[in-house]
Amino acid sequence: MENVKKKPADLATIIKQAKKRNMDLDERFLAKVFNFAEKAHQGQKRASGEPYINHPMEAALILAKLGLGEITIAGAILHDVPEDTNYTLKDIEKNFGKKIAFIVSGISHLGKIKLRDKQKHYNLENLRKMFLVMASDIRTVIIKLADRYHNMQTLWAKQPQKQQRIAKETLEIYAPIANRLGMGELKGDLEDLAFKYVYPDKYEGFLKITKDKYKQYQAISKKSIQEIEKMLKLQKVPFMDIHGRTKHLYRLYLKLKKYQMNLDKIYDVVAVRIIVKNVRQCYRMLGIIHQHYRPMIGRIKDYIALPKPNGYRSLHTTIFGPAGKLIEVQIRSKEMHEESEMGIAAHWLYTEKGKKTEANLEKRQADSLNKELNWVKQLRNWQKYVGRDSKQFFRSLRIDFFKDRIFACTPAGEVIDLPQGATPIDFAYAIHTEVGNAMIAARVNEKKVALNHKIRNGEMVEIITQKGKTKPSEEWLEHAKTGMATVKIKQSLKKSKKINWLVAKKTNGVKS
Ligand code: MN
Repeated sequence: MENVKKKPADLATIIKQAKKRNMDLDERFLAKVFNFAEKAHQGQKRASGEPYINHPMEAALILAKLGLGEITIAGAILHDVPEDTNYTLKDIEKNFGKKIAFIVSGISHLGKIKLRDKQKHYNLENLRKMFLVMASDIRTVIIKLADRYHNMQTLWAKQPQKQQRIAKETLEIYAPIANRLGMGELKGDLEDLAFKYVYPDKYEGFLKITKDKYKQYQAISKKSIQEIEKMLKLQKVPFMDIHGRTKHLYRLYLKLKKYQMNLDKIYDVVAVRIIVKNVRQCYRMLGIIHQHYRPMIGRIKDYIALPKPNGYRSLHTTIFGPAGKLIEVQIRSKEMHEESEMGIAAHWLYTEKGKKTEANLEKRQADSLNKELNWVKQLRNWQKYVGRDSKQFFRSLRIDFFKDRIFACTPAGEVIDLPQGATPIDFAYAIHTEVGNAMIAARVNEKKVALNHKIRNGEMVEIITQKGKTKPSEEWLEHAKTGMATVKIKQSLKKSKKINWLVAKKTNGVKS
């Protein structure tokens, strides 16, 4: 069962984990914070039967592993004090200062907001409040995510009804927030923890399909790692780390659904990850891997030149691997790796060089976060966007959430995610290269538009194509906003030039 006894998080573990992230936490200060919280929660128990203090300490440990500073860690240790004990926010302020009290007040405010009404619909006004609180200090969001993460780990101890509600909220609200912050690991874990409570039947079925295969895949992964490592060492190719990663369950489930639950069609159930020093070595490593293992056509993805919308960078390739099976290899620098695992928190590791005074550090962190998180600020202007019905609400939730991104849809309702300023040209190439090449006109909300029309959020875009047309217009390059469209247009132009040239040569040949 999930109820595996493990040593509860203590301060020493937290400090140790922080050190691994090069964070020197102020031990004396945190000891004071811990003693205060322990005293406040004395005698209280969690639904799981363990002492209450374990919960805030586990949340703090999650944050220490992400490399967060002591204000955030202290906020996590204290996060349930005003809500559940005889001590107040005033006590916290008196002992630990205004900043920490402010962050803790945000968390306890969040705890009081009921996200749904009796009919289990999301309460729009309250969701709005939630985002306003989160927007006041990003550390509030991050602590809330750690709080939720630990609550999900101990959800087995709750009533089934509560399990349902909490797990659903996690899937629908908190995992997307983690994703938007670029905290990929956390997002994946939150989804996996929620999966079995939200869709118990599907979860069971999924496990049945995947259980044995999963083991096979893991064996393949292990063998591949050994072989590749041996090869790299033999060739004296430098690398920092090589390890395996297994796809998160819920993500795999979603992908499987697209492929009629056929696991054989999915090539990245397990992947080999190679960490190198810098971008140049990433490309070098890709070359070396391809030299030794044949890559699968159409499976080489350069997310360094073309990062994913949430900032993810890596090189991906699927190779006919050393274990005689197809396996995905992911190549990235250490910096990219930390960014993909820890998202926004990773930036702190790279901005805190220099003097490490607490005030200095927290200020730098706050600066870098402010730059990152314009979307949070935008949440403050929420009212403007929120309509009365929930469809409108969720549309605006997405809009605000993914600032700098727009969402347009096809007449069939498929949502296409584009950067701001994107045109029908980008839209067409986002659907498919062939659609782009064959495009002759576009309609937006059923009206004809110029191809340089700037698509707005929520617009329905219809691409009108001409059968047999395979050549884009050179002038489109001026109006394409996405790197993807630009690359595809250039490639298609090149291709058609080549063909023209060949045709010309052939005709010339006939003539002469
Ligand atoms: Mn809590």
